[in-house]
Amino acid sequence: MEQTYGAPNYAPLEVVLERGEGVYVWDVDGNRYVDCISAYSAVNQGHVHPAIRDALVRQAGRLTLTSRAVYNDRLPLLLAELTQYAGYEMALLMNTGAEAVETAIKLARRYGYRRKGIAPDRAEIVVCSDNFHGRTTTIVGASTEAQYRREFGPFPAGFRVVPFGDVSSLEAAIGATTCALLIEPIQGEGGVNVPPPGYFAAAARVCRERGALLMSDEVQTGFGRTGSRFGADAEGVRPDVTIVGKALGGGFYPVSGILAPRDLLELFGPGDHGSTFGGNPLGCEVARAALRVIVDEDLAGNARRRGNEMVEGLRALRSPLVRQVRGRGLLIGVELTVKAKTLAKALLREGVLAKDTRDYVLRIAPPLVIDPEQVAAVVDAVGRALRHVEAPATAGAFSA
Ligand SMILES: *Cc1c(COP(=O)(O)O)cnc(C)c1O
Repeated sequence: MEQTYGAPNYAPLEVVLERGEGVYVWDVDGNRYVDCISAYSAVNQGHVHPAIRDALVRQAGRLTLTSRAVYNDRLPLLLAELTQYAGYEMALLMNTGAEAVETAIKLARRYGYRRKGIAPDRAEIVVCSDNFHGRTTTIVGASTEAQYRREFGPFPAGFRVVPFGDVSSLEAAIGATTCALLIEPIQGEGGVNVPPPGYFAAAARVCRERGALLMSDEVQTGFGRTGSRFGADAEGVRPDVTIVGKALGGGFYPVSGILAPRDLLELFGPGDHGSTFGGNPLGCEVARAALRVIVDEDLAGNARRRGNEMVEGLRALRSPLVRQVRGRGLLIGVELTVKAKTLAKALLREGVLAKDTRDYVLRIAPPLVIDPEQVAAVVDAVGRALRHVEAPATAGAFSA
């Protein structure tokens, strides 16, 4: 039915899910899987976390949507708790990650004209090769991935691309007309690319020296995923703007936003920017509960510990098909000598959901509530799947 009535803009794994709890999901035939996709980090807290579910149900019976034409009694609470968690003065809430990135782009351009004195319509945002910031026309215009762009132009001007991980390219690119650097601390969709140590701190220094905003897209790396609060924390960097989404909604409801100092967010006045659903009371209660789970259950600490175990376990498999295991916390990429899609399909039959990102990289990113036994089970399943891909005829453990 989906293929009959739905646009074919996805090619899902051949599994139909109907239930989830913690790190597990079940398909319509009752088979259980460990979810190592976790909706690209939107389910850091695990599936159907009871505290977040209760918050959603409670608020759904109270007040759900008001628009920002009036005040609601939940938004200020989330703003206070989110800014306190993140260490910023202010936040601006939207719904999806792409909208939050668009918000940051608008803020950066306004900053460029009002504060940096860039000539009208000349502001430039520097982005990195292999970036992923979402799917709007402006954002795919800043992408280097041919498929994301092909036949979707014309694109807005005002972006300049530098190679990810190279400081001297940043120094050459960031100049008088640069209003911001938009960058992921670790590139998730781009293949779990971890930059060389010191790169992010150097990027922060170059931005500071040249008066460009450092805007960290933490939509995927934020809220404990990489073993700390944000990906930028690994190098002790406090970006001018932090972009959040995904896990802020606890897997229940889209909530995104940007965090920044007051003197930046005051560049927006009434009517300059908005969203019908952004900051709605239902989303706010979900996000408050989602944040509490991240803190109360120390999901960042668990991501760090379980991530180390996962990486060690995967490396110890010593498979000839594995070129490299990389990542930080529970954002792990396994670079293969074979198409990652082949391994993802083999893993499905071993009870693990994981997805290729780029052709040769399998991303393993389970909910951050995963325990040591579950990590070991995933490692064993990857080992079996690798052996099957290596020698499909002799692996008799399951039927194809
Ligand atoms: C997923 C993602 C986005 C876009 O978020 P959507 O909610 O899908 O619009 C932006 N940036 C990064 C780094 C992401 O991983």
